[in-house]
Amino acid sequence: MSVPNPVGRVLLLGGTTEARRLAGMIADEVDVVTSLAGRTTDPLRPAGETRIGGFGGVDGLARYLRDERVGAVVDATHPFAAAISGNAAAACAACGVPLLILRRPGWTAGPGDEWHRVASLPEAAGMLPRLGRRVFLTTGRQGIAHFAGLDGCWFLARSVEPPTGTVPRHLEVLLDRGPFTVAGERELITRHRVDVLVTKDSGGSDAKLVAARELGVPVVMVDRPAAPDAVTVSTADAAASWLRTLRR
Ligand code: NAP
Repeated sequence: MSVPNPVGRVLLLGGTTEARRLAGMIADEVDVVTSLAGRTTDPLRPAGETRIGGFGGVDGLARYLRDERVGAVVDATHPFAAAISGNAAAACAACGVPLLILRRPGWTAGPGDEWHRVASLPEAAGMLPRLGRRVFLTTGRQGIAHFAGLDGCWFLARSVEPPTGTVPRHLEVLLDRGPFTVAGERELITRHRVDVLVTKDSGGSDAKLVAARELGVPVVMVDRPAAPDAVTVSTADAAASWLRTLRR
């Protein structure tokens, strides 16, 4: 898809599949720099320019927007990356820079699902071991510490990088990066005799949720934090269209 050069440089706050997809769509047409937090040692590199590391809060981000003459910001960060999204909204407002949020839709339970929605990781931990003792944990390595006190549970924790900090006593770490298939998830859940899945409502591929439904495994689903009040789209195509409107 062709996107005419809009109002200068586009800052794409990334770290997601959607951000990489959008960068791939627009890198030939606009001056786009994708910003990554630097959490993973070997991140998948998007098309276009990349910068890595925090900006230094709202003030640092606002300074960057001015210094780099950024004409538009697309916040395509993960739905649970609430701090950077809040900073982006505040910095864009302070600098008068248009902001778009690109966020994939969350998941919804269907027939056959047994989901327990909670507001936070500590609340999810509080539901164990009542719901199950063999836990498939897909909340990311930073969330594992919340489950550290649960000595009566065994955990299979899947993450891209090894967990740091306190971890549960009975823990097997599976280092892996998606996409995952329903057949693969079904095999994993069965082989490890998982009896409860804990996940964040990240959206995207629902292979693990389909497998859990098929196997009658309950799911503890952590709700998303509130997103800033800004124009929001759910696909890279729609984000590219928004960038095009800035030219008019
Ligand atoms: P966060 O709590 O919202 O952000 C913490 C701080 O990290 C921010 O204040 C900012 O530092 C820096 N930061 C975050 N994202 C950045 C970016 N794209 N570019 C530059 N600096 C960034 O973020 P998080 O939850 O730790 O997530 C970090 C990154 O991993 C995000 O980019 C997100 O898209 C990706 N990710 C997160 C999750 C998740 O579950 N949270 C899952 C998959 C991918 P300064 O204040 O110094 O600017």
